[in-house]
Amino acid sequence: MPTREKNGAADTLTFQATECAICGPGIPAQELYPANFDVDDITPARFSARRLPDRVHYRMVKCARCGLVRSDPVLDEATLAYLYKESTFDYEAETANLKATYGRYLAKLRSLSRRQESLLEIGCGDGFFLEQALAQGYTTVRGVEPSEAAIRDASPVVRDQIVCDVMRPGLFRDGEFDAVCLFQVFDHVPHPEAVLEACRAALRPGGLTLCLNHNVESVSAHLMKERSPIIDIEHTYLYSPATMRRIFEAGGFKVLKQGHVRNTYSVGYITHLVPLPARVKGMALGTLQRSRVGKISVPVPLGNLYLIAGRL
Ligand SMILES: [Zn+2]
Repeated sequence: MPTREKNGAADTLTFQATECAICGPGIPAQELYPANFDVDDITPARFSARRLPDRVHYRMVKCARCGLVRSDPVLDEATLAYLYKESTFDYEAETANLKATYGRYLAKLRSLSRRQESLLEIGCGDGFFLEQALAQGYTTVRGVEPSEAAIRDASPVVRDQIVCDVMRPGLFRDGEFDAVCLFQVFDHVPHPEAVLEACRAALRPGGLTLCLNHNVESVSAHLMKERSPIIDIEHTYLYSPATMRRIFEAGGFKVLKQGHVRNTYSVGYITHLVPLPARVKGMALGTLQRSRVGKISVPVPLGNLYLIAGRL
Protein backbone atom coordinates (compact mmCIF):
# COMPACT_ATOMS: atom_id res chain seq x y z
CA MET A 1 0.00 0.00 0.00
CA PRO A 2 1.29 3.51 -0.74
CA THR A 3 2.09 5.62 2.32
CA ARG A 4 3.50 9.09 2.84
CA GLU A 5 4.29 11.67 5.47
CA LYS A 6 1.52 13.73 6.99
CA ASN A 7 -0.37 16.07 4.67
CA GLY A 8 -3.37 17.20 6.65
CA ALA A 9 -5.54 14.12 6.90
CA ALA A 10 -3.41 11.38 8.38
CA ASP A 11 0.20 10.38 8.90
CA THR A 12 -0.28 7.48 6.54
CA LEU A 13 -2.81 6.89 3.83
CA THR A 14 -4.66 3.68 4.45
CA PHE A 15 -6.83 1.84 2.00
CA GLN A 16 -9.64 -0.59 2.60
CA ALA A 17 -10.98 -3.40 0.45
CA THR A 18 -14.57 -2.92 -0.72
CA GLU A 19 -17.35 -5.42 -1.31
CA CYS A 20 -20.29 -5.35 -3.69
CA ALA A 21 -22.97 -3.04 -2.20
CA ILE A 22 -25.68 -5.31 -3.66
CA CYS A 23 -24.31 -8.86 -3.16
CA GLY A 24 -22.22 -8.37 -0.02
CA PRO A 25 -18.88 -10.06 0.82
CA GLY A 26 -17.27 -13.08 -0.79
CA ILE A 27 -18.44 -12.58 -4.39
CA PRO A 28 -15.66 -12.63 -7.01
CA ALA A 29 -15.04 -9.51 -9.08
CA GLN A 30 -13.35 -8.98 -12.43
CA GLU A 31 -10.72 -6.22 -12.73
CA LEU A 32 -11.67 -3.58 -15.32
CA TYR A 33 -8.72 -1.17 -14.85
CA PRO A 34 -5.70 -1.16 -12.50
CA ALA A 35 -5.23 1.87 -10.21
CA ASN A 36 -3.25 4.69 -11.83
CA PHE A 37 -2.89 7.31 -9.07
CA ASP A 38 0.09 8.42 -7.04
CA VAL A 39 -0.22 9.18 -3.31
CA ASP A 40 0.48 12.85 -4.10
CA ASP A 41 -2.75 12.86 -6.12
CA ILE A 42 -4.78 12.56 -2.92
CA THR A 43 -5.71 16.20 -2.24
CA PRO A 44 -9.00 17.99 -1.41
CA ALA A 45 -8.82 19.67 -4.86
CA ARG A 46 -9.25 16.23 -6.48
CA PHE A 47 -12.41 15.69 -4.41
CA SER A 48 -13.98 19.05 -5.24
CA ALA A 49 -17.31 19.26 -7.05
CA ARG A 50 -17.15 19.22 -10.86
CA ARG A 51 -13.45 19.88 -11.21
CA LEU A 52 -12.07 19.07 -14.65
CA PRO A 53 -11.63 15.31 -15.13
CA ASP A 54 -7.97 14.29 -14.92
CA ARG A 55 -8.07 10.53 -15.57
CA VAL A 56 -6.89 9.52 -12.10
CA HIS A 57 -8.69 6.54 -10.60
CA TYR A 58 -8.59 3.65 -8.15
CA ARG A 59 -8.48 0.03 -9.29
CA MET A 60 -11.94 -0.58 -10.80
CA VAL A 61 -13.70 -3.94 -10.62
CA LYS A 62 -17.06 -5.39 -11.66
CA CYS A 63 -19.06 -7.82 -9.50
CA ALA A 64 -19.23 -11.20 -11.25
CA ARG A 65 -22.76 -11.82 -9.96
CA CYS A 66 -24.69 -8.56 -10.42
CA GLY A 67 -22.40 -6.42 -12.61
CA LEU A 68 -22.11 -3.50 -10.17
CA VAL A 69 -18.89 -1.55 -10.89
CA ARG A 70 -16.84 -0.28 -7.95
CA SER A 71 -13.44 0.97 -6.85
CA ASP A 72 -11.39 -1.54 -4.83
CA PRO A 73 -9.55 -0.80 -2.59
CA VAL A 74 -10.47 2.80 -1.66
CA LEU A 75 -9.19 5.33 0.88
CA ASP A 76 -10.39 4.71 4.42
CA GLU A 77 -13.55 6.55 5.41
CA ALA A 78 -11.91 9.06 7.77
CA THR A 79 -9.58 10.25 5.01
CA LEU A 80 -12.43 10.45 2.48
CA ALA A 81 -14.54 12.44 4.97
CA TYR A 82 -11.60 14.84 5.51
CA LEU A 83 -11.09 15.33 1.76
CA TYR A 84 -14.76 16.17 1.17
CA LYS A 85 -14.84 18.49 4.21
CA GLU A 86 -11.91 20.47 2.77
CA SER A 87 -13.15 20.31 -0.84
CA THR A 88 -14.51 23.34 -2.66
CA PHE A 89 -17.54 24.12 -4.75
CA ASP A 90 -16.45 25.66 -8.04
CA TYR A 91 -19.42 25.54 -10.38
CA GLU A 92 -21.52 28.63 -9.71
CA ALA A 93 -21.40 29.37 -13.47
CA GLU A 94 -23.28 26.15 -14.22
CA THR A 95 -25.90 26.31 -11.48
CA ALA A 96 -28.58 28.02 -13.59
CA ASN A 97 -28.51 25.11 -16.06
CA LEU A 98 -28.29 22.53 -13.26
CA LYS A 99 -31.33 24.12 -11.59
CA ALA A 100 -33.21 23.69 -14.88
CA THR A 101 -32.09 20.06 -15.32
CA TYR A 102 -32.71 18.94 -11.74
CA GLY A 103 -35.93 20.97 -11.60
CA ARG A 104 -37.36 18.95 -14.52
CA TYR A 105 -36.79 15.67 -12.62
CA LEU A 106 -38.22 17.12 -9.40
CA ALA A 107 -41.36 17.99 -11.39
CA LYS A 108 -41.52 14.32 -12.51
CA LEU A 109 -41.31 13.22 -8.85
CA ARG A 110 -44.06 15.66 -7.85
CA SER A 111 -46.32 14.27 -10.58
CA LEU A 112 -46.14 10.87 -8.81
CA SER A 113 -47.10 11.96 -5.29
CA ARG A 114 -49.93 14.10 -4.01
CA ARG A 115 -48.33 15.20 -0.74
CA GLN A 116 -45.01 16.98 -1.31
CA GLU A 117 -44.16 19.58 1.34
CA SER A 118 -40.79 18.64 2.85
CA LEU A 119 -37.61 17.77 0.97
CA LEU A 120 -34.08 16.70 1.91
CA GLU A 121 -31.13 16.90 -0.45
CA ILE A 122 -27.98 14.90 0.22
CA GLY A 123 -24.77 16.56 -1.04
CA CYS A 124 -26.48 19.89 -1.69
CA GLY A 125 -23.35 21.98 -2.38
CA ASP A 126 -24.24 25.67 -2.00
CA GLY A 127 -27.95 24.83 -1.81
CA PHE A 128 -28.93 26.02 -5.31
CA PHE A 129 -31.34 23.10 -5.75
CA LEU A 130 -32.95 23.76 -2.35
CA GLU A 131 -33.91 27.18 -3.74
CA GLN A 132 -35.39 25.42 -6.80
CA ALA A 133 -37.42 23.14 -4.47
CA LEU A 134 -38.78 26.20 -2.61
CA ALA A 135 -39.75 27.72 -5.99
CA GLN A 136 -41.65 24.51 -6.83
CA GLY A 137 -43.71 24.81 -3.65
CA TYR A 138 -41.90 22.86 -0.92
CA THR A 139 -42.34 24.59 2.43
CA THR A 140 -39.54 22.79 4.31
CA VAL A 141 -36.16 22.12 2.67
CA ARG A 142 -33.06 20.69 4.35
CA GLY A 143 -29.64 19.79 2.99
CA VAL A 144 -26.63 17.70 4.03
CA GLU A 145 -23.22 18.79 2.70
CA PRO A 146 -19.72 17.86 3.88
CA SER A 147 -17.89 20.87 2.32
CA GLU A 148 -17.68 23.83 4.71
CA ALA A 149 -16.72 26.15 1.83
CA ALA A 150 -19.84 25.19 -0.15
CA ILE A 151 -22.12 26.00 2.80
CA ARG A 152 -20.40 29.39 3.31
CA ASP A 153 -21.38 30.19 -0.31
CA ALA A 154 -25.06 29.31 0.23
CA SER A 155 -27.74 31.96 -0.07
CA PRO A 156 -29.05 33.20 3.32
CA VAL A 157 -32.45 31.84 2.27
CA VAL A 158 -31.25 28.23 2.66
CA ARG A 159 -27.88 28.36 4.49
CA ASP A 160 -29.30 27.63 7.96
CA GLN A 161 -31.16 24.63 6.54
CA ILE A 162 -27.90 22.86 5.57
CA VAL A 163 -26.18 20.46 8.00
CA CYS A 164 -22.40 20.15 7.55
CA ASP A 165 -22.07 16.35 7.62
CA VAL A 166 -22.40 13.20 5.55
CA MET A 167 -25.74 11.38 5.44
CA ARG A 168 -25.95 8.90 8.29
CA PRO A 169 -28.62 7.33 10.51
CA GLY A 170 -30.01 9.61 13.19
CA LEU A 171 -29.22 12.91 11.45
CA PHE A 172 -32.96 13.48 10.91
CA ARG A 173 -36.16 12.28 12.55
CA ASP A 174 -37.65 9.06 11.19
CA GLY A 175 -40.27 9.77 8.53
CA GLU A 176 -39.50 13.50 8.45
CA PHE A 177 -39.52 14.02 4.66
CA ASP A 178 -41.82 13.59 1.67
CA ALA A 179 -38.84 13.52 -0.73
CA VAL A 180 -35.10 12.83 -0.59
CA CYS A 181 -32.91 13.85 -3.57
CA LEU A 182 -29.35 12.87 -4.52
CA PHE A 183 -27.73 14.55 -7.54
CA GLN A 184 -24.30 13.26 -8.63
CA VAL A 185 -23.71 11.96 -5.10
CA PHE A 186 -24.60 8.27 -5.06
CA ASP A 187 -21.45 7.33 -7.02
CA HIS A 188 -19.22 9.16 -4.49
CA VAL A 189 -20.26 7.45 -1.25
CA PRO A 190 -18.25 4.56 0.23
CA HIS A 191 -21.36 2.67 1.43
CA PRO A 192 -24.35 3.38 -0.86
CA GLU A 193 -26.46 0.68 0.80
CA ALA A 194 -26.03 2.45 4.18
CA VAL A 195 -26.93 5.82 2.61
CA LEU A 196 -30.08 4.25 1.15
CA GLU A 197 -31.00 2.88 4.58
CA ALA A 198 -30.60 6.35 6.11
CA CYS A 199 -32.67 7.89 3.26
CA ARG A 200 -35.38 5.30 3.75
CA ALA A 201 -35.57 6.05 7.48
CA ALA A 202 -35.78 9.81 6.82
CA LEU A 203 -38.71 9.31 4.38
CA ARG A 204 -42.32 8.90 5.44
CA PRO A 205 -43.95 5.65 4.25
CA GLY A 206 -44.81 6.27 0.59
CA GLY A 207 -42.26 9.10 0.39
CA LEU A 208 -40.17 9.32 -2.77
CA THR A 209 -36.48 9.45 -3.56
CA LEU A 210 -34.96 10.94 -6.73
CA CYS A 211 -31.44 9.87 -7.63
CA LEU A 212 -29.45 11.15 -10.64
CA ASN A 213 -25.91 10.03 -11.48
CA HIS A 214 -23.56 8.73 -14.17
CA ASN A 215 -24.46 5.74 -16.32
CA VAL A 216 -21.53 3.32 -16.62
CA GLU A 217 -23.22 1.77 -19.67
CA SER A 218 -23.76 5.03 -21.58
CA VAL A 219 -22.55 5.24 -25.18
CA SER A 220 -19.75 7.65 -24.21
CA ALA A 221 -18.59 5.35 -21.37
CA HIS A 222 -18.44 2.40 -23.80
CA LEU A 223 -16.57 4.41 -26.42
CA MET A 224 -14.07 6.10 -24.10
CA LYS A 225 -13.54 3.18 -21.69
CA GLU A 226 -10.76 4.04 -19.19
CA ARG A 227 -10.48 7.55 -20.69
CA SER A 228 -14.11 8.34 -19.83
CA PRO A 229 -14.34 11.18 -17.29
CA ILE A 230 -16.52 8.95 -15.09
CA ILE A 231 -13.57 6.59 -14.45
CA ASP A 232 -12.40 8.87 -11.66
CA ILE A 233 -10.94 8.65 -8.16
CA GLU A 234 -14.00 10.48 -6.80
CA HIS A 235 -16.24 7.56 -7.78
CA THR A 236 -16.46 4.65 -5.37
CA TYR A 237 -19.32 3.01 -7.32
CA LEU A 238 -20.65 3.35 -10.89
CA TYR A 239 -24.14 2.23 -11.87
CA SER A 240 -26.02 1.00 -14.90
CA PRO A 241 -29.82 1.22 -15.16
CA ALA A 242 -29.97 -2.45 -14.02
CA THR A 243 -27.68 -2.12 -10.97
CA MET A 244 -29.41 1.14 -9.91
CA ARG A 245 -32.73 -0.67 -9.91
CA ARG A 246 -31.31 -3.64 -8.00
CA ILE A 247 -29.69 -1.63 -5.22
CA PHE A 248 -32.87 0.41 -4.63
CA GLU A 249 -35.04 -2.72 -4.61
CA ALA A 250 -32.63 -4.42 -2.19
CA GLY A 251 -32.89 -1.31 0.03
CA GLY A 252 -36.67 -1.51 0.44
CA PHE A 253 -37.79 0.78 -2.39
CA LYS A 254 -40.16 0.27 -5.30
CA VAL A 255 -38.79 1.78 -8.51
CA LEU A 256 -41.47 3.97 -10.13
CA LYS A 257 -39.61 5.67 -12.98
CA GLN A 258 -36.19 5.33 -14.54
CA GLY A 259 -34.51 6.71 -17.64
CA HIS A 260 -31.77 8.69 -19.34
CA VAL A 261 -31.20 12.29 -18.28
CA ARG A 262 -31.26 15.18 -20.70
CA ASN A 263 -28.94 17.79 -19.19
CA THR A 264 -29.36 21.44 -20.10
CA TYR A 265 -26.11 22.97 -21.37
CA SER A 266 -25.18 26.01 -23.41
CA VAL A 267 -24.31 25.45 -27.07
CA GLY A 268 -20.81 26.82 -26.31
CA TYR A 269 -20.22 24.22 -23.57
CA ILE A 270 -21.44 21.34 -25.75
CA THR A 271 -19.11 22.46 -28.57
CA HIS A 272 -16.29 22.44 -26.03
CA LEU A 273 -17.02 18.72 -25.34
CA VAL A 274 -17.34 17.55 -28.95
CA PRO A 275 -14.27 15.72 -30.34
CA LEU A 276 -13.16 18.01 -33.21
CA PRO A 277 -9.68 18.93 -34.53
CA ALA A 278 -8.32 21.77 -32.34
CA ARG A 279 -8.21 24.29 -35.21
CA VAL A 280 -11.81 23.60 -36.23
CA LYS A 281 -13.00 23.69 -32.62
CA GLY A 282 -11.13 26.96 -31.98
CA MET A 283 -12.82 28.56 -34.97
CA ALA A 284 -16.25 27.24 -33.98
CA LEU A 285 -15.88 28.43 -30.36
CA GLY A 286 -14.66 31.84 -31.56
CA THR A 287 -17.70 32.23 -33.78
CA LEU A 288 -20.04 31.06 -31.00
CA GLN A 289 -18.49 33.47 -28.48
CA ARG A 290 -19.20 36.36 -30.83
CA SER A 291 -22.80 35.33 -31.44
CA ARG A 292 -25.80 34.81 -29.18
CA VAL A 293 -26.09 31.19 -30.35
CA GLY A 294 -23.26 30.09 -28.01
CA LYS A 295 -25.30 31.17 -24.99
CA ILE A 296 -28.49 29.36 -25.95
CA SER A 297 -29.22 26.44 -23.58
CA VAL A 298 -30.46 23.13 -24.97
CA PRO A 299 -31.25 19.75 -23.34
CA VAL A 300 -28.93 16.90 -24.46
CA PRO A 301 -28.39 13.32 -23.20
CA LEU A 302 -24.82 13.15 -21.85
CA GLY A 303 -24.61 9.81 -20.10
CA ASN A 304 -26.54 10.33 -16.86
CA LEU A 305 -29.42 8.24 -15.57
CA TYR A 306 -32.20 9.01 -13.12
CA LEU A 307 -34.41 6.90 -10.91
CA ILE A 308 -37.47 7.75 -8.82
CA ALA A 309 -38.44 5.20 -6.17
CA GLY A 310 -40.99 5.01 -3.38
CA ARG A 311 -40.36 3.88 0.19
CA LEU A 312 -42.16 0.57 0.72
ZN1 LIG B 1 -22.84 -7.81 -6.88
